Amino acid sequence: MRPRSRCPRCAAPIGAGDNVPILSWILLRGRCRHCHQPVAWRYPAVEIATAALFLLSFLRFGLTITGIGMATLCCLLLGLAVMDAETMKLPDAFTWPGMVLGILYSGISLGVFRLFPGAFEPLELISGIRISGHGSRFAATVRLTAAGLAVSALWALLAALLLLLIRWLYFLVRHQQGLGIGDVKLIAMIAAWLGPAPAILTLLLGCLAAALFGIASVVASRGKRPFRTTRLPLGSFLCAAAIYTIFAGQIVIDWYLRFYRLR
Ligand SMILES: [Zn+2]
Repeated sequence: MRPRSRCPRCAAPIGAGDNVPILSWILLRGRCRHCHQPVAWRYPAVEIATAALFLLSFLRFGLTITGIGMATLCCLLLGLAVMDAETMKLPDAFTWPGMVLGILYSGISLGVFRLFPGAFEPLELISGIRISGHGSRFAATVRLTAAGLAVSALWALLAALLLLLIRWLYFLVRHQQGLGIGDVKLIAMIAAWLGPAPAILTLLLGCLAAALFGIASVVASRGKRPFRTTRLPLGSFLCAAAIYTIFAGQIVIDWYLRFYRLR
């Protein structure tokens, strides 16, 4: 990415040797080599969290397309969560490429069907291929690719439309924007990667967590924060909910669908 990494205090460029995750921060004792001012602990914290999510992806999904895909998605989600918390923005430089990667992943990955089998039943119907079957694997892969890309793009589009509808309804009621356009793109990205059921679970859990946090922070401020207009980085909560859904979402989805005897 350009411009390349620089010290936020003195703007001196950070050399490759000083830019090794975690290690450089420890070796430099958390200070810039040039101006000797402290480097925020947020940097090594994000690096450690990234490593932990990569390890978790490997332990959960192994060295498979799913494992590599989920590690990539976690990396995107963590970056977006931290940026939204800090700047209240979800940069297009993450959400748009994230959406494209998600569509490509769904197109090439057979593993994802094992990850969320129920979510991809429409794909089986459209392509006429049973994912769990044996037979000609190569032919199945080639045919699945086009259908996988199309279905993933469709879920992304539907997710974006749902969020735009919520955004529009909020505007009608309150006459002010309540939902950022970045959140719309974020949910579309998550739907492209994970499919509809995990995307809905993410939306539900993210909004629930944000609402609880919002109520708690308004109460804790003792009247300093107004209840009706306090702003929250919803994207951060959605990203956290998406990471939860990647590793534990299927259990929740199965539990829920059992009420409708769909499992
Ligand atoms: Zn510096």
